[in-house]
Amino acid sequence: MSTLLQQDRKHVWHPYSTLGSDAPLYPVKSAHGVYIQLHDGRRLIDGMSSWWSAIHGYNHPVLNQAIEAQLQDMAHIMFGGLTHQPAVELAEQLVAITPPSLQAVFFADSGSVAVEVAIKMAIQYWFAKQQPQKNKMLTIRHGYHGDTFAAMSVSDPENGMHSLFQGSLITQYFADAPECNFDSHTVEHDIKSLAAQLKKHANHIAAVILEPIVQGAGGMRFYAPDYLRQVRLLCNQYDVLLIIDEIATGFGRTGKLFACEYAKIEPDIMCLGKALTGGYMTLAATLTTQNIADTLHQGEPHVFMHGPTFMANPLACATALASLKLLLQSDWKNHVQRIESQLKTGLITCKNHAHVKDVRVLGAIGVIELHRPINIHSLQDKFVQAGVWVRPFNTLIYLMPPFIITEQQLHDLMQAVVHVVASMDENDSL
Ligand SMILES: *Cc1c(COP(=O)(O)O)cnc(C)c1O
Repeated sequence: MSTLLQQDRKHVWHPYSTLGSDAPLYPVKSAHGVYIQLHDGRRLIDGMSSWWSAIHGYNHPVLNQAIEAQLQDMAHIMFGGLTHQPAVELAEQLVAITPPSLQAVFFADSGSVAVEVAIKMAIQYWFAKQQPQKNKMLTIRHGYHGDTFAAMSVSDPENGMHSLFQGSLITQYFADAPECNFDSHTVEHDIKSLAAQLKKHANHIAAVILEPIVQGAGGMRFYAPDYLRQVRLLCNQYDVLLIIDEIATGFGRTGKLFACEYAKIEPDIMCLGKALTGGYMTLAATLTTQNIADTLHQGEPHVFMHGPTFMANPLACATALASLKLLLQSDWKNHVQRIESQLKTGLITCKNHAHVKDVRVLGAIGVIELHRPINIHSLQDKFVQAGVWVRPFNTLIYLMPPFIITEQQLHDLMQAVVHVVASMDENDSL
C-alpha cells in the first residue's frame, strides 16, 4: 500500500492541500453502509457522509441497480437539442418537492457551478428588465458557496480566499452574519446590517444569496428561521431577488426536506447539489420561477447563457431519481429526529471540556466548536485510531452521519469523538 501513497504524493492534489504533503492520508478499499473499509484492514464508521452527500450510506443496492439499469441505455448524451427520460423525470420530481413557485430546472455538474448559474440568472434577469446596473450580490459573512470565482466572491471574505485573489474577484456587498441561535425569537438586531446594505445599495443589487438556517463550511453556524423570513421581506421591499443555497442543507439534513421550510418562505432561485444523487456522482441543479424564466426569454439575448458539456448526465439523473425515491419512501424525518436527539445527549458531555467553546446540534448535524484551530496532522490520526471517519477543520469538529446510521453505530461514533476531544493535548491545536 505504501506504493499507492508514494504515487499519490508524487502526482495528486487533494482538497485544500499541497502536493506531496505529509498530512495523514488513508487508502480506501471500499465502503458499505456507514462503514469505510481501509486498505490496511481497519474499518471506520463514517461521520461525514462524504461532505453531506451520502445520506443513504455507501454501496446501496437500490442506487447501484439504478446506475446499472441506466448504463444499459446510455451513460451520457449531449443535452443540446436532445433530451431523455431521467432528466425530465428528475426535473418534475424536484419541482414537485421544492417550494411551489420554483418551476424551471437547470442541471449543472457541481454545487459551485449551480451557484455560478444562479448568479448569472439573477444578473441576466435584471439585464432583461433593462436594469443592467443591478448586477451585484449581497450576502452575509461566514457563508460558503463554492470555489469557483463568482462563488468565492460571495463566500466569507475572511476565511474565504478574498485576499489571495484580490483583484481577480468581483467585489460584492457583505452584511454581518446573524449572531442569533436557531431558537432565538428576536432577530431585530441581527437583521439591521443586511437592511442597511439594501437601503444603501439596492439599485446595484441583483440578488441576496445565502445559505438557509445553517451556514456550513463557513463556520457551521445555525440561525433563526425568523431571520430568513425577514430577509425575504426585505428582498421584496427593495426589489431584489433571493437566492437560497440549499446545496448542503437540502434533502432532509436539517430535519426539513429543505431548510427554507423552517421559515416558510419561497426563494426566487434555489441551488441544490451534494445529497442530490445520494453521494454517488456529481450533479447539481439551479431552480427558478416561471417569471424569471419568462423574463430571461423575453429580454436580450433571449436565451440563458450557460450550457455545460455534461449537463443532465443520464447516469447522474437516474441515480438522483432513485435516491430521491429512496429518501421519500423512507421514514427519513424520524431517522433525522432520532439522530438529532441522540447527538444532543451524546455530544453535550464535551461541553465542559477546556478546549470546547460550544456544542450545537440541528437535525442530523452535530458541531463541537473549539477555542483554538485544530492541528489536522495529529488529530486526524487519533480519530482513525478510534475507528471513526471525522474530518475537522479550523475550530470545528462536526458530525453529519448518513441517515441510515443505527443507534448503536451513532453511539460508537460519538463515544469515539468524545474520547478524542477529552484526550486532546498541545499537539492537537495550532
Ligand atoms: C459544498 C457547497 C457548495 C459547493 O459545492 P461543490 O459541489 O463542492 O462545488 C456550495 N454551496 C454550499 C452551501 C456548499 O455546502
